[in-house]
Amino acid sequence: MALLIIFLPLDCASPTALYDYVHELKDSYLRNAGQLSKVAFDSKLHVLHNALGTHTSISRIQGGKLKSKREIRVATLFKEVPAEFLRMIVVHELAHMKERAHDKAFYQLCTYMAPDYHQLEFDVRLYLTHIEHLGPLDWRPASVSGDEV
Ligand SMILES: [Zn+2]
Repeated sequence: MALLIIFLPLDCASPTALYDYVHELKDSYLRNAGQLSKVAFDSKLHVLHNALGTHTSISRIQGGKLKSKREIRVATLFKEVPAEFLRMIVVHELAHMKERAHDKAFYQLCTYMAPDYHQLEFDVRLYLTHIEHLGPLDWRPASVSGDEV
């Protein structure tokens, strides 16, 4: 399994860091995809219901104009995984800003943002299967696993 493991520095798991991370990716690849009003970790998204992330667009009339608010939510389990897994889910949800269905155009957009997207998605699915059957892994390096926090 070719897994590039990069750990999230502690403060990267904070809501602001996630917001910055998503916007940095969006600005590099999907500059013209519209505004993203909210980015958040969501503890209610559960891995076993196959919802790792969501992208929603809420439209409402405001002052005679149709305004849409777009949100990306990421399951909290992504706080404690290799950073590459987080990159996969963020790329996936960003791609939904332009493509709704999981079709060819969608995956092309994913691989445009992350050339190794298919490998990453495979690895994430594999890990989810692991969680389902054996529980989550402790991804911290062995040298810090025993440390007091
Ligand atoms: Zn999707």
